[in-house]
Amino acid sequence: MILILRPNTDPEGSDYKILTSLLGRLPSIQFRVVAGLCAVDSAESVEGMMKALAGHGQVCTRMGAYKPRTSPYAFQGHGAKCLPYVFELAGKYGIKVIAMEVTHESHVDEIRRALAKTGHPTGVMLQIGTRNSQNFELLKQVGRQQEFPVLIKRGFGITLDESLNAAEYLATEGNRKVIFGLRGMKTNMGDPHRNFVDFAHVPVVKRLTRMPVCIDPSHSVGARSRAPDGLLDIFHVVAQGVIAGANMVLVDFHPDPAKALVDGPQALLLSELAHFLDDVALARETYQKRLSLVEQQRAAA
Ligand code: PEP
Ligand code: MN
Repeated sequence: MILILRPNTDPEGSDYKILTSLLGRLPSIQFRVVAGLCAVDSAESVEGMMKALAGHGQVCTRMGAYKPRTSPYAFQGHGAKCLPYVFELAGKYGIKVIAMEVTHESHVDEIRRALAKTGHPTGVMLQIGTRNSQNFELLKQVGRQQEFPVLIKRGFGITLDESLNAAEYLATEGNRKVIFGLRGMKTNMGDPHRNFVDFAHVPVVKRLTRMPVCIDPSHSVGARSRAPDGLLDIFHVVAQGVIAGANMVLVDFHPDPAKALVDGPQALLLSELAHFLDDVALARETYQKRLSLVEQQRAAA
């Protein structure tokens, strides 16, 4: 049952306003691109990524320090030891918010301590990943703090209602600064994409809740496949989500995807950043024009 996060229960809590307050270090804006590394692998990658973002006027990024991996033999993330240089480099390049997944409550304390030790050069948006979307004790713990906003990803093998209830767990524990992330569903019906892209649910989540909605094209598509028109599938699905009203785009980039320790095959290249941002801006502009058409239609009715 969605009680706290239901639509229109809190005039201060409309989806756009939440997004603004979430990113409290930033000017008020209803839409953000959060591009960055799936996983922090080296200080060089972090710096290369942040430098490119700063060069394109970007102030948010994603940086995974704690990685939930299918295989226990796969790289698990550098954890707490990469936090100081990640935060310091964010300060150096004017990055205001870093989206970072936590898989255990102790990670929240590690992040808090590292931010304090480095003098709070940036802010953090905690991420709850798809694999932890029903880790109720983690949800409760993360919901009990209000210092960090939370991006909760949809569970890839559960119903939308179950995922919305996961978000509600955060809110019932006190943290209402929650963004809901669509990242595709685990089913072979989506082949050849890694997951079945679910961005048609952007307006549905907005109808059912007051959460801002994030789309993650990287973990949905999972590859750099290109359509005959020349656009990467990742570009196409981002456009589809943004044109439907998404408030945030979380997307993997890497300065050298061949060397990425996690999800290299789906990473966009830094040389594609400008094109990506232009393409996203076009889709956003179109969404805004679509809203004007609705207004015109209403006025004429
Ligand atoms: C991620 O964003 O790095 C990630 C692991 O995503 P998801 O939980 O959606 O698989
Ligand atoms: Mn990943």
